[in-house]
Amino acid sequence: MQYRERVWAEVSLDALSLNVENIKKKIAQAEEDIEYCAVVKADAYGHGEEFICRHLYEMGIRFYAVSSFEEAVRVRKWCPDGEILILGYTAPECAPMLAEYQIIQTIVSVEYAKELAKFVEVGFPVRCHIALDTGMGRIGLRTGLETDQKEHCIQELKEIAHLDGLNIEGLFTHFAVADEKDSDNISYTIRQETEFFGMAELFKAEIAPLKQVHCMNSAAILYRNQLPSTLARAGIIMYGLKPNANLEVPIPLTPVLSLRSRISHIKTVPEGTCISYGRTYTTPAEKRIATVTIGYADGYSRQLSNRGEVIVKGVRCPIVGRVCMDQMMIDVSAVPDVQTGDIVTLIGTDGNQTITADDIAQICGTIGYEIVCNISKRVPRIFLKDGRQIHEDSLI
Ligand SMILES: *Cc1c(COP(=O)(O)O)cnc(C)c1O
Repeated sequence: MQYRERVWAEVSLDALSLNVENIKKKIAQAEEDIEYCAVVKADAYGHGEEFICRHLYEMGIRFYAVSSFEEAVRVRKWCPDGEILILGYTAPECAPMLAEYQIIQTIVSVEYAKELAKFVEVGFPVRCHIALDTGMGRIGLRTGLETDQKEHCIQELKEIAHLDGLNIEGLFTHFAVADEKDSDNISYTIRQETEFFGMAELFKAEIAPLKQVHCMNSAAILYRNQLPSTLARAGIIMYGLKPNANLEVPIPLTPVLSLRSRISHIKTVPEGTCISYGRTYTTPAEKRIATVTIGYADGYSRQLSNRGEVIVKGVRCPIVGRVCMDQMMIDVSAVPDVQTGDIVTLIGTDGNQTITADDIAQICGTIGYEIVCNISKRVPRIFLKDGRQIHEDSLI
């Protein structure tokens, strides 16, 4: 495939379809009916919100989760008739617009609920899910197993439920360690589950019925798939990456995104030649050094300096010297017939070599999530369907 770009991300909608189908099969194994909720926050984890959402909509997905009001309004364009849940804070002043767009807002605290209710226009209630903090320590009403804590939580829930202008349709919680398999962490997750479903039962018995009671993220979909959650909030696995790179995943996943760039310049240099800022690399012998048209401003971490690898013509090549803003150098001594203009694969497969976002994350001391989210906006996303590039209007 030939593109003229300096650097680009290929996003395979075919891989997305495969992942969604495999996740759907997994959640169909549960006893309860679980609806698929596509987490498309942060520009669909850096993959490109519009085409990801339009493709998911075409696949029949009608529940989306985002992290801000702005994202929700954009997703409403691609999903005019489904549900959109904002998983975090929205300025209370947005209440009338939340109602207008029929967006579901998360209630992060009692204080927040009161503020939000103040801005609701009479006759135009805001649909809400209340977050319960069962152990993540991020947002939500704190639950607990002790009677006092439980009682306090139920009082807070009642207070919120009695506010005019808020329609409470669901409760949800978020797991802190569902992607860990040791017994201490498994007990922690089970405790979160117990507190959450206990509180949901109390809510339904003492306050009001609920349409949605949900707790599953990617890790829970993979490793705790018998929970009575009404929604499965699939994020990272939909994009073909693992929630925890060190754990086997029980379903096939195909990475959706590949990151590619080009060779702009090639030279043979003698032993003792310094490469890039800081002189952190000196050739130990005669080398063929190529310059690649990607840098940290494209979201390719500077931490990969002297540590990362790329693939050229099916051969792995080490990055030599520091990654610069828009360029970096690699050692192509082992690549036969390398030429300027050749494609460099930073993430993805070339020949029989593959580098995943998780591999890069390992080197950078982070997670695959951050690697894909950090690919900057100046990197064009090219969408592939049936293996071919698609254009703006060919999807719908
Ligand atoms: C981001 C997020 C998810 C998705 O998490 P993954 O690990 O990517 O599946 C689910 N629920 C909440 C509340 C989130 O913030």
